[in-house]
Amino acid sequence: MHQSTLAQLSAALESKQISSEELTRLYLDRCKKFNESLNCFITINEDEALEKAKQADKQRAENKHTSLTGIPVAQKDIFCTNGIKTSCGSKMLDNFIAPYDATVIEKMNAAGFVTLGKTNMDEFAMGSTNETSFYGPVKNPWDSERVPGGSSGGSASAVAARLSPVATGTDTGGSIRQPASLCGITGLKPTYGRVSRYGMIAFASSLDQGGPMTQTAEDAALMMNVIAGFDERDSTSAEQPIDDYTEKLNDSIEGLKIGLPKEYFSEGLDSNIAKIIEDGIKELEKLGATCKEIELPNTELSIPAYYVVAPAECSSNLSRFDGVRFGYRCDEPKDLSDLYTRSRGEGFGKEVKRRIMIGAYVLSAGYYDAYYLQAQKIRRLIRDDFQNSFKDVDVIAGPTATGTAFKLNEMMDDPVSMYLSDIYTVSVNLAGLPALSMPAGFVNKLPVGMQLIGNYFEESKLLNIAHQFQQATDHHQQIPEGFE
Ligand code: GLN
Repeated sequence: MHQSTLAQLSAALESKQISSEELTRLYLDRCKKFNESLNCFITINEDEALEKAKQADKQRAENKHTSLTGIPVAQKDIFCTNGIKTSCGSKMLDNFIAPYDATVIEKMNAAGFVTLGKTNMDEFAMGSTNETSFYGPVKNPWDSERVPGGSSGGSASAVAARLSPVATGTDTGGSIRQPASLCGITGLKPTYGRVSRYGMIAFASSLDQGGPMTQTAEDAALMMNVIAGFDERDSTSAEQPIDDYTEKLNDSIEGLKIGLPKEYFSEGLDSNIAKIIEDGIKELEKLGATCKEIELPNTELSIPAYYVVAPAECSSNLSRFDGVRFGYRCDEPKDLSDLYTRSRGEGFGKEVKRRIMIGAYVLSAGYYDAYYLQAQKIRRLIRDDFQNSFKDVDVIAGPTATGTAFKLNEMMDDPVSMYLSDIYTVSVNLAGLPALSMPAGFVNKLPVGMQLIGNYFEESKLLNIAHQFQQATDHHQQIPEGFE
């Protein structure tokens, strides 16, 4: 049963093949058993989950349920969950029990999902390996000596190992898509503003976006139907009406025009990865799509622009963690200044401090014009490149990540290499576009994801293409050895 998708579990609950309590126990047992080695959960929510599962069974018996009532989910520990620890992977929030639910959590609870626990992540979502977490690294179920990617590494690892049927993630510069690629699952980063950021702990507010991490595109569509939509509590939330994301899944992709950016298939790309992406594209051609080379000439500027904008916004967002209002406070502060500096010095890890310092620097008088303003201008150019391309093509396809999963510790002393590995993902966030990563094959038994980038609010189109691809291939059905 743990190999089932969300769609299959919904049917199993509906036909009374299994109860939510049984299903929840089954997943909780797997979570407890495998978390020792994978470390994908910071908190396992056993008692509350079982309580919620019993309620779900009652709702089903009384016919007061949705199609998803009683299905377990793992929530990234960046989403505030009322009464449950919300650490954001940081010592700073190790003692923080959120007093309210994020909108995403509220909506999932209302749809009847059962929260199994909170997943491990890079500290404040900063990283690409999940090794910056205060709670230690997460292991990749495909190879325990490798990272799952980051920052939503706990969610990706949990779904890949089938410890949860689905999970949530957040993506500021690739943190849904890159771990999805490295763990062999499907991850959708929606258009900026499509999913509410209310109660999602802020890293870089103009880039952050929550979304589904699932086995299949169909499951991502089912989750989007729950979490997408306008939220008056998030001032950047989009007022545009939402689609029924499952409606177009079965449409034919005959005649679809796919753009292949020449900058994404240049010498920087590992030849094994390139081969898998090319095979994936051939598969889409067999389904009736046509391809065309396009240019995204400012691609190489996306990393420098992102690593100015994201740290700038993080330095501002993280100023609220001061040891006074909530979170970690140092022991016996001498005076107010000692309280601030020691609480922040002791509460934040190395990568977070590095970003806060870069951010404070690029925003400071004298440097603002040279760095921050320049980065904002590049951001506009990147957006314009995409808009020009979408005049000719329906979607853009390419790799999600530069390689397969890194070895543990490989990147820890080399932050610049880690930043450079984000080359295929960050421009999407700078432009605010939706993008999806789907399993496309394996290199040395390690999964490789293919990325599809769409125009604003075209999540349905991406899900349709991915669903058609998944009907014709079985990469997404592979389960790592030992977790079958
Ligand atoms: N790897 C990128 C970073 O470190 C993206 C992280 C994210 O999307 N949260 O900032």
